[in-house]
Parts: sequence; structure tokens; C-alpha cells
Amino acid sequence: MSYKIESKNLNLWYGDKQALKNINMGIPEKKITALIGPSGCGKSTFIRCLNRMNDLVDKAMVEGEVLYEGTNIYSKDIDVVEIRKKIGMVFQKPNPFPMSIYDNIAYGPRIHGLKNVDKIVERSLKDAALWEEVQDRLDKPALGLSGGQQQRLCIARTLAMRPDVILFDEPCSALDPISTAKIESLMDQLKEMYTQVIVTHNMQQAARVSDVTAFFLLGELIEVGETKNIFEKPKEKGTEDYITGRFG
Ligand code: ADP
Ligand code: MG
Repeated sequence: MSYKIESKNLNLWYGDKQALKNINMGIPEKKITALIGPSGCGKSTFIRCLNRMNDLVDKAMVEGEVLYEGTNIYSKDIDVVEIRKKIGMVFQKPNPFPMSIYDNIAYGPRIHGLKNVDKIVERSLKDAALWEEVQDRLDKPALGLSGGQQQRLCIARTLAMRPDVILFDEPCSALDPISTAKIESLMDQLKEMYTQVIVTHNMQQAARVSDVTAFFLLGELIEVGETKNIFEKPKEKGTEDYITGRFG
């Protein structure tokens, strides 16, 4: 299996509290990897290490490596902006900019001086399965969209930067079931083109959407494997207890 991203002996501390303990994990290319585990086990912390988003949101000390296509993104000479362009992130709460639908998508491409912004906007909205719903009101405020539409807009905004990895941190937990189903089917469509990682506390969601599942507990990676195996014949007792609902 070829890995797009790989963490090597990754440790992370918030002050003196260690939130990630020696995580060694590969993120397979053009698959969907789900991160599951009880609240506070380090899922968000880990996914944010995959594009150094934790530089922006956490005061944390990191040791170890995160290799993206073989390059350690934590080494000193790395252009973090470039990394975040290639490895985009979608958050729990949709966070469109307070501007028009069009400008939300065009924002990144304009900053990076990309050409054919109209085309990028259209293609990104189509790829995020939102075009049909918004093509007649591109100049309207993004904040007027429903929550589910806003989340697809945020995905479109990520796609506009032509990433090759998309990280989702609980992308559906603020959404209704219909919007959730739309995001899940969108992820399935995006599989051909992108490597995806999703944090979810919803085990049914992990089972539905992912190819590979990783179970975290108290900052440790307990078990990772094909989703079917993790849910049907986990090797570790901790995994089994969690997926059968014995704690969580
Ligand atoms: P999860 O996403 O699995 O719920 P997190 O990665 O958010 O877990 O948190 C892992 C642990 O690190 C928790 O104990 C949490 O309280 C702590 N933590 C998370 N973010 C920060 C932060 N910015 N500063 C200090 N502690 C944090
Ligand atoms: Mg979290």
C-alpha cells in the first residue's frame, strides 16, 4: 500500500500533558481513513498535525515526523502555506467567510494568483455537489446558505486550491441526517481524485464511508486496519470494547 502521509514516532504535548504518544501511522493514497475513539483521545490533535494546522490553533510541542510524499513537514525549511494548500482541512462547524458564495471560492485562488478564477469557482462547486443549488445566486451571501450547503461550500473552497489531501474533522456533527448523507456521498465521489481523512465520533459513519479505520485511546493509536476488519474482527480488546459500545 502506498502512503500519502506518514507519521513517524509522533509525540505532542500541551504543556506537560502528552496528547499524542508515539504515533506511527500511514495514510493510504486515494482512500478514506477514519479516526475514531472517545472524546479527548487525540483525534483532532492528530489530524491537525497532518497539515500543521496545530501551529495555528494550539500551543503545542511536537516531536517526531510527519512525512508528506516523503518530506517531513515539520522540518524547518518547509513552506507551511504550500503544505496547507496541498492538504486542505474542513472543520466541524462550517466557517464560510462573510462574503458572497463566489468570493468564498475565489478568495484562495486570487491570493495565489491563479488564472481562470471563474472556471475554478464553477468546477469546485460542481465537484462539491453544490453547483446546481447555487449557480443562480453566486453573488448572494454564503452565510445565507443552509448548514449543509455551507459545509459543501467549505469543501468547494478547499477543492479550489487543488489539494491532493482533504482532512475532515467531524464534518457532519453540526448537520442534519440529509446533509450528512450528502457529505458522505460527496466523499465517495471525491475518492477517485483525493486522499481523505475523517475524524468522526459516529462509528456507523466510519463504517459507511471509510476504507481504513484507526482507533485512538488516550493519545495512543491502539489499532489501525481495514475498516471491515476493525469492525468485524478487531485484534485489540480496547477496540472491541469501544466499537461494541462498552465505553465511549
Ligand atoms: P479529540 O479530538 O479526540 O476529542 P483532542 O485532540 O481535541 O481530542 O484532545 C486531546 C487532548 O488534548 C484532550 O485531553 C484535550 O483536552 C487536550 N487538548 C486539545 N487541544 C488542546 C489545546 N489547544 N491546549 C491544551 N490542551 C488541549
Ligand atoms: Mg476533536
